[in-house]
Amino acid sequence: MKTKTLILSLMLALAVFLPAPAACGPEWTYPIPPNILANKEGYLTLVNRERLLSGDYEPRDLVTLTVKRTVGDTQMRKTVSRALENMFAAAQNEYGLTLYVKSGYRSYHTQRTMYFNRVESMGYDDGLVQYPGASEHQTGLCADILNYEWTKKDGMNYRFAETTEAKWMAEHCWEFGFIIRYESDKEEITGIKFEPWHLRYVGKECAKYIWDNHLSLEEFTLEWEGYIASWEAQGGDFEALVMSLNLPNKVIVVETSEDGEEEISAYY
Ligand SMILES: [Zn+2]
Repeated sequence: MKTKTLILSLMLALAVFLPAPAACGPEWTYPIPPNILANKEGYLTLVNRERLLSGDYEPRDLVTLTVKRTVGDTQMRKTVSRALENMFAAAQNEYGLTLYVKSGYRSYHTQRTMYFNRVESMGYDDGLVQYPGASEHQTGLCADILNYEWTKKDGMNYRFAETTEAKWMAEHCWEFGFIIRYESDKEEITGIKFEPWHLRYVGKECAKYIWDNHLSLEEFTLEWEGYIASWEAQGGDFEALVMSLNLPNKVIVVETSEDGEEEISAYY
């Protein structure tokens, strides 16, 4: 019985240490790891007029923000709320800059009301309020962030970019996993005017890559989706690759020996 346990344990240990199955495909050379691109948490989800969120999409892990804000209860996804806490603390403690969240998660229903109110008052869609389902605010991954001076103003415009706080966010937000989603020189690609106050969470690895390469989220998405498509065209199986990376890195074998004692083997 003990010998059997040993052999079984050795086999399982080997299975863990063996490289990913060859069936996964050619070598992965894209700078972002496949398990991040698998987008299990939804942090990379692209939302725009072409890629609408459905009316019933609502993030499951919304929490109430603890950082300074201009309105009462504002919710965002848990990870993003923590990232904001870190960014706001760094801005305050290291640079003496106070930031305020003006807007976070917005439901489809709220967006719909805002959109139709805007169209009704203007008489046409002037593009300033996103079409229902096309607003990133529905993901719970983005926030509009201002300084004190701008919390006193009625509307936002590109001149916010001239403030010390906006300059600091543009330089440093990637360190906390955020990007400036609608950049001044990407308006034709995003279809949205420059919004130096609108920060979108994508996670630290992707935020750094997007910052280093000065991409819009549209360009980044096109790039990595294109990489996966050509990698699969060369025989790769993306899902299998992600599965192989998600294998547990520890195997525990419990067997009872003849004298009734439990034997536990763990392999890391
Ligand atoms: Zn916004």
